[in-house]
Amino acid sequence: MMIGKKVIVIFISFIIILPSGCLRIPTEQKTSSQMQANSELHVEYPLQAEAQVIYEPEIDDIFRRISVDYSLVGNVSTSITHHHLRLKWDFMIVNRTQDSTIIYILTPNFGNLNITFEEQQVNLSRLSYYLLPDYNVKIFLLNLTYSKDKPLFGTLEYETTIDSLFLYYVAQFSKSFYYPENYPYAIYFSPNFVFPVSPAGIIGKVSRGNIVLVLPSRYAVISEYPLEVNSKNNQTIIIIDNSKPWGSVYIYKRGFFQETKLTIGDNNTWLVIYAPSNMRLYSKELTNATVKIIKHYIDRLMDPPYSEINVIFHPDLPFGNGEEFEDSGKGIAIVGIRDSKRIEDILPTLAHEVAHLWFGSYTNLTPGIEEGLATFMGSDAGYLSYSLGYTERQILKYSSQYRKPLIQAYKEVISNPQVRNAIKYYKGAFVFRSLQFVLGNETFFEGLRELLRECHGKECNLTDVQSVFEKVSGQDLDWFFKEWFYTAKVPNYYVRNLRLEKEDWRYTVSFEIIDKNNFTMPLEVEVKTPTKSFIKKIWVNGSARVEFELNEKPTEIILDPNEWMVNENKKYNVKGIEIIIE
Ligand SMILES: [Zn+2]
Repeated sequence: MMIGKKVIVIFISFIIILPSGCLRIPTEQKTSSQMQANSELHVEYPLQAEAQVIYEPEIDDIFRRISVDYSLVGNVSTSITHHHLRLKWDFMIVNRTQDSTIIYILTPNFGNLNITFEEQQVNLSRLSYYLLPDYNVKIFLLNLTYSKDKPLFGTLEYETTIDSLFLYYVAQFSKSFYYPENYPYAIYFSPNFVFPVSPAGIIGKVSRGNIVLVLPSRYAVISEYPLEVNSKNNQTIIIIDNSKPWGSVYIYKRGFFQETKLTIGDNNTWLVIYAPSNMRLYSKELTNATVKIIKHYIDRLMDPPYSEINVIFHPDLPFGNGEEFEDSGKGIAIVGIRDSKRIEDILPTLAHEVAHLWFGSYTNLTPGIEEGLATFMGSDAGYLSYSLGYTERQILKYSSQYRKPLIQAYKEVISNPQVRNAIKYYKGAFVFRSLQFVLGNETFFEGLRELLRECHGKECNLTDVQSVFEKVSGQDLDWFFKEWFYTAKVPNYYVRNLRLEKEDWRYTVSFEIIDKNNFTMPLEVEVKTPTKSFIKKIWVNGSARVEFELNEKPTEIILDPNEWMVNENKKYNVKGIEIIIE
């Protein structure tokens, strides 16, 4: 954690999804209803303000406990200078279901907070609140009565010094999210929530409004969707329309990154690599790896579909995380490097995100298929997180938990990240590896190139993928797609009726291969002797018979030694020969 480092922090509105939860309010036996200047608005102050101290739960739990019956519309404006943050939020509370409403106001327990409703100043010192000492957070409970049919206007202002306490607050408060502890800043937008969290704000779902960030001019912005960025009077002003929030906004300090710029491919695509300047040592290796990966994809697929590619090594995203998107004609790949020990930790994500420049923002395939293809391409370039054998075992392990075919996985959100990775990413990639084995490299990669042509600017699903490969190969591939995409099963091979004969110093080993799950698949069968190894590619249609003639006694029979498919693994011994099913 970066504590005490002089970092300028950017904050915007506090907006979070609020599923219904139980309401827990400190007991308020007696209240004094006060008629203020505004004849309609009643602010109810408890006779005695109470504090409820809550230790340790995850910050998310707190929000689940609070249920609000309103939504917010509002413009947030945040201005940041060197060591000072000033936030102003003009808001409107709408969609209340009754006249009496509890408004939840979140703030650090330091800094200055000021709130007015309908021009009436709220006396915060007289309100009950939750105190979350672990987070330095206070949540005030404001009980208002106002006609539910009228929007309730208000203003929230917060001001603080950006010091170590403030940075600690930010880090603690947002540890379950990708909140920056360092430059640059990631603001993630999705239809459901906007991040990062503001240091102070009203808890509730924000539906509309603008977020205005005023930053010193040394900040630059990269974003996944169009937003307004202006430079004026040594300031960078960013205007984010909250009504169409989807995607990511990255704000970084110019000079934070070391930029490496070069051209690549026949079309001389610009490649700009941003690596944190303090990573100078790795920067060359990262550039070389990026170039190698892109060249591999150009070779297998086609020139990059952008005139410029930016690859950003992001110090605040944990390694293994990344994303890819398009920003005004540029292909942007973000690769997390936080907590990475070695450069190898980063490369699989780099290869995956860069592959999305082809199968991702260029195509309009079912997203799950794109994840499988991006992982496949990364693996084809030599960058899979684990060995093929280990990856296969992970797939088998989590498949027995998930038990649904890929076609189903494409349609649903898999919340368990290990299951999601094993099924959508790894199994999704492995089936394309199996198709590569069935069709051979030439036909298979021609199929991928045809997919790029066919699915650019056109929605493609699994049926379209099948048609493309059938067209390119001239084969009916229904059997392959049915087996691998529409069932959750994988081949389950075993060897039986093994015969070993010896005649004049020559050995003949013959055996039957049975697939309990009755797949039709080509299969590599390897037989090892003390000095040599022989491989045959055979077709197994539920079963097959194989024979090898050898000069020495065989010691091992290995099925699928090069891991072309996911199949049940086992190991046993027959007549002194080791049977290994990979
Ligand atoms: Zn992906």
